[in-house]
Amino acid sequence: MDTKNLDSKYVAHTYARFPVEIVNGNGAVITDEDGKEYIDMGSGIAVNTFGMADEQWINAVTAQLGKFQHTSNLYYTKPCAELAELLCEKTGMEKVFFSNSGAEANECAIKLARAHGEKKGGKDCYTIITLKNSFHGRTLATLAATGQDVFHQKFTPLPDGFVFADAGDMNSIKKLAEENNCCAIMMELIQGEGGVNTLSKEFVSEVAEFAKQNDLLLIVDEVQTGNGRTGKLYAFMHYGIKPDVFTTAKGLGGGLPIGACVMGEKASELFGNGDHGSTFGGNPVVCAGAVNIITRLTDDYLAEVAKKGEYLKAKLLEIDGVNDVSGMGLMLGVLAEKESKQIIAAAREKGLLVLSAKNKVRLLPPLSITFEQIDKAVQILAECINA
Ligand SMILES: *Cc1c(COP(=O)(O)O)cnc(C)c1O
Repeated sequence: MDTKNLDSKYVAHTYARFPVEIVNGNGAVITDEDGKEYIDMGSGIAVNTFGMADEQWINAVTAQLGKFQHTSNLYYTKPCAELAELLCEKTGMEKVFFSNSGAEANECAIKLARAHGEKKGGKDCYTIITLKNSFHGRTLATLAATGQDVFHQKFTPLPDGFVFADAGDMNSIKKLAEENNCCAIMMELIQGEGGVNTLSKEFVSEVAEFAKQNDLLLIVDEVQTGNGRTGKLYAFMHYGIKPDVFTTAKGLGGGLPIGACVMGEKASELFGNGDHGSTFGGNPVVCAGAVNIITRLTDDYLAEVAKKGEYLKAKLLEIDGVNDVSGMGLMLGVLAEKESKQIIAAAREKGLLVLSAKNKVRLLPPLSITFEQIDKAVQILAECINA
């Protein structure tokens, strides 16, 4: 049986896969089973930070793989300690808990919020304010935190203790904080799955100030926006705020599974021994890859990402039939006259892989994409939008 039939027969049908089998890749170029090449503007959903088969990253990963692949968290390993240091040094945070995915990083943040609530106001202080249209993951608690009903159906009852504010509306936050016994506010600064919606600077700094004044843990979900994606190492750095906790995953591992819950002063002492854990979290091979990724995201490199992002955005806005381009850096959402589904299918035919987010075409290319590849991708998109 060929791969597509085998997959359809034996892999659970939770994804509507596109009819492409990926067999190879190099940077921002992907090759399918027929030898057809595509420009990759998805990077495995913001995961392959430096694209496919990046040599430096492969070297970092295989060097560790040749030493040992795993040990339990009962022992020290250098890659794990080094990565935690890097993350804290570059963000002004204090401590990191490592897991294997974005949802797990958010689970950790939710547990921290609960621990903070108990310390602050006892057992009843557990409600977390999140935003409508947010996406925080697929586990039961992160699903409960996700402010989109479509994901909740079929899976109730969900864990209690989440209320949803309107993004951009400070009064809605204040009202929920008055009506509930709250311990935290959790949000993405650019809602990825929710449609690449960028929160305003004004709103975000008001929320940060409100959280501070009311002793609410401010949790920023940087699972998608993090690791250079928006042209800064983390998106909160665009906003002049410092969260109490931020979570990240996707691009951090450069292609291997990792999640990180990064804690500032207010959160770093909430857990004691035995309060949280993960068998695979902090895996040395994955961490060695992540150290390579974070080390290479220098200020100069990030400035280049920002430049590419602005270039791409400007080019997209020149296309007839494009009504709006949202997002920052290399995380962009294109709103076109034509339906995104049609654009995505047509682009695939012409050798360009893109994603969707609500009614938009979502672009998350590897940060290493070249200006020539951007030009080619924009040309294909223009043809698809105007066809
Ligand atoms: C993808 C995503 C998650 C979930 O990450 P997984 O690794 O799939 O568990 C959580 N939050 C945001 C903002 C995401 O984009």
